[in-house]
Amino acid sequence: MKKKIIILGATGSIGKSVLDIVKKFKDRFDIVGVSTHQNEKSMRNICAQFEPKNVIFTNRKLEKTSNKSYYTGCSNLYFGSESFPDFLNIDFDLLVNGISGFDGILPTFLAIEMGKDIAIANKESIVSGGNILIERALQNGSKLIPIDSEHNALFQIIKNYNPNDIKKITLTASGGPFRKDTFDMLVNRKISDALNHPTWKMGPKNTIDSATLMNKGLEVIEASILFSIPSNKIEVLVHPESIVHGLVYLIDGGIISYMSQPDMRIPIYNALNFPNIYEHYLKQTEFTSLNFYELKEEVFPSIRIARSALDKGFIATSFFNAANEIAVDSFLNEKIKFTDIFSIVETVTGLSNNGNPKSIEEVFEYDKLARKFAYNEVKKYII
Ligand code: NDP
Ligand code: MG
Repeated sequence: MKKKIIILGATGSIGKSVLDIVKKFKDRFDIVGVSTHQNEKSMRNICAQFEPKNVIFTNRKLEKTSNKSYYTGCSNLYFGSESFPDFLNIDFDLLVNGISGFDGILPTFLAIEMGKDIAIANKESIVSGGNILIERALQNGSKLIPIDSEHNALFQIIKNYNPNDIKKITLTASGGPFRKDTFDMLVNRKISDALNHPTWKMGPKNTIDSATLMNKGLEVIEASILFSIPSNKIEVLVHPESIVHGLVYLIDGGIISYMSQPDMRIPIYNALNFPNIYEHYLKQTEFTSLNFYELKEEVFPSIRIARSALDKGFIATSFFNAANEIAVDSFLNEKIKFTDIFSIVETVTGLSNNGNPKSIEEVFEYDKLARKFAYNEVKKYII
């Protein structure tokens, strides 16, 4: 029996890696639905090649211009994220969420309510609404399988142990393109410098997050939520080769690590096949030396700010995420300097109340409020 999958964010970096795998294993996977925000050209190619019956353009504006006949093999077109309930009302086994940013939360939540399993790359939704998503997933019997490489690595180790067996976990960080910078050097970093990641090829938002190390801040929060581990038991280690993705320290003195080359098609393949393990078509990594360094917290305050958000609760983690999304967008639009991202995120996170959202509606309200604060904060830094 083929696994019926939906790929959200099919035109992005994660989406393309999923499609690459499906192309090689058409006997194992059947794509029944795909989403893009507005990339019509890529969607036409995807439709011609994979013939998914259901397509959603989350940008509603495309409804006026799109023509069904452009999309050979796709019989149902949907427009606007408000169409997600109709789009998801089909027979599927696994939702793969490769949407970038908070907007990925709605389909994740809807799939959880349907009791479906989700292979999730969209870390922003976990950071913003994680406590609600996890609670509802447990109640509905829906599994969240992480795609983020560090979390996928940790997931594969942690599932073999009892919570009490684990002393602490470590997430590795490549350190990004500015690993060797001083803070003074960071101030003048340009967009083109920040988009030049040494090991991973990703979409623009995630690439900037890797340069600021906000990505690792988001990931500390993501790990805390997914694995129910407090922030003081989650460490970060800089590892430029990005081969060791995660470490789990056991109470018996052992340390278990998960290694693979930096290619997202490895964690994605694992998540698509979960709970089974199958042979990959990628060549296994070869390495001779691995390096590890302490994180320079005095240069990159991102993880300290993320921990302070976690200490306040999940309202604050949602503020952390929303402020970061606005700040990154402002940097990419040349409105603020690279290091202003830190100040904006820290200030907005500090404006949050303590405590947790009590419903998905509250998650949306807190995100909206945090964005309002963040826009006001950005105004103070306009170049
Ligand atoms: P990309 O920018 O490459 O792709 C984003 C995808 O989401 C595109 O299909 C895009 O459509 C769609 N999209 C953009 N905006 C919206 C919106 N408002 N509503 C719905 N869909 C939207 O991102 P990545 O693939 O790099 O990242 C996706 C997610 O995976 C992020 O959460 C990221 O943090 C996470 N992740 C990514 C990794 C990577 O290696 N890339 C590694 C680990 C995690 P369109 O093409 O039309 O713009
Ligand atoms: Mg990661």
